[in-house]
Amino acid sequence: MRTFFPLLTLALFTTTAFGAEPAGDGVWRDAPKNPDAIRVLVVTGGHDHDASFYSVFEGYPDIAANVRPHPAGLTRDMRKNVQVLVTYDMVREIDPKQQSTLKSFAEAGKGIVVMHHALASYLNFPWWAENVSGAHYVFEPGPDGKKSSFKHDEILSVTPVGEHPVIAGIGPFKILDETYKDMWYSPKIHPLLNTDNPTSDGPVAWIGPCTTSRVVCIQLGHDRHAHGNPAFKKLVRNAILWAAGK
Ligand SMILES: [Zn+2]
Repeated sequence: MRTFFPLLTLALFTTTAFGAEPAGDGVWRDAPKNPDAIRVLVVTGGHDHDASFYSVFEGYPDIAANVRPHPAGLTRDMRKNVQVLVTYDMVREIDPKQQSTLKSFAEAGKGIVVMHHALASYLNFPWWAENVSGAHYVFEPGPDGKKSSFKHDEILSVTPVGEHPVIAGIGPFKILDETYKDMWYSPKIHPLLNTDNPTSDGPVAWIGPCTTSRVVCIQLGHDRHAHGNPAFKKLVRNAILWAAGK
């Protein structure tokens, strides 16, 4: 879990790999889709990531994703143009306007997918973890002295928990990924995938406690090894479809 923001890398993507984007818009935009495609906004920033991350959203005629990094990521009202918000940012503090953008989106009955290091975001806005994601990474030790930890390049054996559309067609699988341990969890989360890896808390995907929007949290997804894993890709696709009410 590193916390620098690779402006140079973003600049290279913007001008070479994916073509120039309108000012203030995303660094990457999916190929044009039919009008019925699910409109997905992916918010990034505050943490570097492999370019392979974008491939997770590519190649689906029914998903139209646009990536918008901070600081622009959460400044606009998303209720009209976005069906599913995917957070893959790591920004610990957000201002009151960003907080109200998120809250109004969650209360509008939309879809939300919280992915990987975004579980360490918006920590000055506890409403989000308590009511939407149902978990957060702990940077500062609490009264019990516990704080979260992470470990890179772990091999995880992952098993589905019960049945749910988000894990449909996903059997037990192995993935090379980063684990988090000793996070805070709401008692209201509904686990979808578990691992017995001792460097993990166990749940690696769950339904959040939100009562107004459909929320899926996916702890997996650190780098290209996860992004290229077929089970991970299917999980993200299923999560977006379910969050959109499909
Ligand atoms: Zn990571």
